[in-house]
Amino acid sequence: MSADLETIVAEIAAEMAAVPVARRGVPASYIPELAKVDPGRFGLAVVLADGQVHVAGDADEAFSIQSISKVFMLTLALGKIGDGLWARVGREPSGNAFNSIVQLEAEKGIPRNPFINAGALVVADVLLAGHAPREAIGEILQFVRYLADDDSIVVDRAVARSETETGFRNAALANYMRAFGTITHAPELTLGVYFHVCALAMSCRQLALAGRFLALDGRHPGGRGRVVSAERARRIAALMLTCGHYDGSGDFAFRVGIPGKSGVGGGILAVVPGVASVAVWSPGLNAVGNSTLGAAALEQLARRTGWSVFAPP
Ligand code: GLU
Repeated sequence: MSADLETIVAEIAAEMAAVPVARRGVPASYIPELAKVDPGRFGLAVVLADGQVHVAGDADEAFSIQSISKVFMLTLALGKIGDGLWARVGREPSGNAFNSIVQLEAEKGIPRNPFINAGALVVADVLLAGHAPREAIGEILQFVRYLADDDSIVVDRAVARSETETGFRNAALANYMRAFGTITHAPELTLGVYFHVCALAMSCRQLALAGRFLALDGRHPGGRGRVVSAERARRIAALMLTCGHYDGSGDFAFRVGIPGKSGVGGGILAVVPGVASVAVWSPGLNAVGNSTLGAAALEQLARRTGWSVFAPP
């Protein structure tokens, strides 16, 4: 299986490399720093439950993980305040764009789920409690380093600055939710945490390693106890499947059949429970802000390995 998997990963990377850049979608440009990324990049990393790693393409090049960080922030926030979090953020797919504000008025400032921007801002607000923003950012960074077992992971300050200067929609969301009381800190403080965590720079290899606890039913990959309970790991994966690709979540579940979380940097983290953690990166995005080739590569990987949360055990 592993030798086959090595071949499958290499073949998929070669097939994706052959797709003309013009057919890969367009890298995000609303955060100016992200528009500078070479759209020709493609990386793929598969980490099996037993720790074997298979990589291809630009799997060791760091990119901006953006919304994939919402998985790590949610995990940490649930660890802090437990299921009380669900009083402040919902668990339903939004059916709207990642940065949409439209549901917040009718729903009294409670975002649909923690994987849209509004929901992640609430999660960032929870992580900020009792801290200065710098400490909260440091805590989240340490958590991701612990998950990946890699202290070299850093925040890309140029990306964080770029989004701070241009993130007017996120500022609108934070201010609007502050009016409802779902955000409890000064909006600029919560936004500062959110922007810096979105600006985490990680390679596919680092990301797949950091996501491995979700494939291990909540256990730390290094045998260092549990990150979260099995129930919590399964619920986080359920949210990834239902809400991880914004209003493209249904299509991703249909095509790939594996829980995944995308980011506008062009990355996707996908988890096959009990089997593998997978990270893919290609900066070109489709119309709803998800990596075009990333989803295509995961669809091929699922098809060729037979991996699916809907497959019989
Ligand atoms: N930092 C991005 C934003 O708030 C994250 C969005 C994403 O990755 O989908 O717009």
